[in-house]
Amino acid sequence: MAILPITVYGDKILNEKTKNVNGVDDELILIIRNMFDTMRNAGGIGLAANQVGISKSLFIVDLSPVEGYEDSKPIVLINPIITSESDENVIYEEGCLSLPNLRADVERPDAIQIKYINTDEKEVILEVDDWLSRVIQHEYDHLLGKLIPDRVDQKLKKMLQKELAQIMNREADINYPITEK
Ligand code: ZN
Repeated sequence: MAILPITVYGDKILNEKTKNVNGVDDELILIIRNMFDTMRNAGGIGLAANQVGISKSLFIVDLSPVEGYEDSKPIVLINPIITSESDENVIYEEGCLSLPNLRADVERPDAIQIKYINTDEKEVILEVDDWLSRVIQHEYDHLLGKLIPDRVDQKLKKMLQKELAQIMNREADINYPITEK
């Protein structure tokens, strides 16, 4: 078991587009295990590889801590591509382990279809809506180098500046390991 430090707002890797994974090997499986340990330790329900300092196109989701989703299985999405989005948008309040303590309303499509490779190197196509869709879209954004502040309007982004500066300066109260400044 290894808990890795989580990258936070201001760490350059979070703004860079991740690179595609070339096959699932033992090294990648170890990365994925460490990502699950790190995410669970921090109380998260989704985590992208660049949130543990690895610029690979891969994220994990485990909604089982969420009420009503207790039976859901953890999923690993490698080289994902969103192939379609519903016309209907919904607003949900989002948080992010790389933006500790910050919450913001974000508008996104309700339903999506996403294509990815699983850990058996099989192609999977998922159609999701509601919370699972929301978490997947948030994590997918990480792989594109985008964070919550990139998905809100200028007015709200301005309101978040103080909290963002606190996060960057490591002044926020955080109960899991993060990267050093
Ligand atoms: Zn996030």
